[in-house]
Amino acid sequence: MKSITRAKPMEAVLSGLEGYDRVFIAGCGTCATMCRTGGINEVAAMSRALEEAGKLVTGTLVIPTACDTLTQECMDQNREAMEDAQVTLVMSCAFGVQTVSGYVGRPVQPALDTLFFGLETGPGHFSEVCMQCGDCVLADTAGICPVTACHKGLLNGPCGGTNNGKCEIDSAIDCAWTLIYNRLKEIGRLDLMREYCKPKNFQAMAKPGHVDIIIEGG
Ligand code: SF4
Ligand code: SF4
Repeated sequence: MKSITRAKPMEAVLSGLEGYDRVFIAGCGTCATMCRTGGINEVAAMSRALEEAGKLVTGTLVIPTACDTLTQECMDQNREAMEDAQVTLVMSCAFGVQTVSGYVGRPVQPALDTLFFGLETGPGHFSEVCMQCGDCVLADTAGICPVTACHKGLLNGPCGGTNNGKCEIDSAIDCAWTLIYNRLKEIGRLDLMREYCKPKNFQAMAKPGHVDIIIEGG
């Protein structure tokens, strides 16, 4: 599972850096590296592009996992270059940006847009499979999420627009309910197609989410 990101257009990055001449760049060695949006190569390319745009890059760093609490240690090792900059440009998902922001003591600027949590379905291919709705129905849908995979988020079967197994909204993608039907058939649980799924409890996804785990003896 990875946090999937896409690079913001360079004009947007430069516009966010307006008024800052000295920039430190932090990438991420995990998800953003896998998405090729914030790994060693992308950070180096960004550094060159900013220099060409007249910025002074005081230093660069690819944090092993930018959303990790060990990020602080990593940043401490680069503190001088970071404090020499007016702003840190973060080439990680929004989790990394927020983690870096908590430690840097300077303005941060995201270089990426965070799209979704995705499964790698093939080299360089990522698919969104869960929207963290807090009220999971996978037991009744053979492990395929209709909330995420169906364009309309339908919980009780297909919409009627399904066409030869493809979605009426986007013919390039499979109809989620055709996939669910086929897998239920495969596992001998077509009876579940007739189970009524109650309206979703949207309070279960009230934001901001927060969980405290009670650790025995902790
Ligand atoms: S039903 Fe909700 S929790 Fe379960 S996979 Fe779908 S979005 Fe995720
Ligand atoms: S065609 Fe299938 S995936 Fe598309 S909206 Fe209808 S039920 Fe959902």
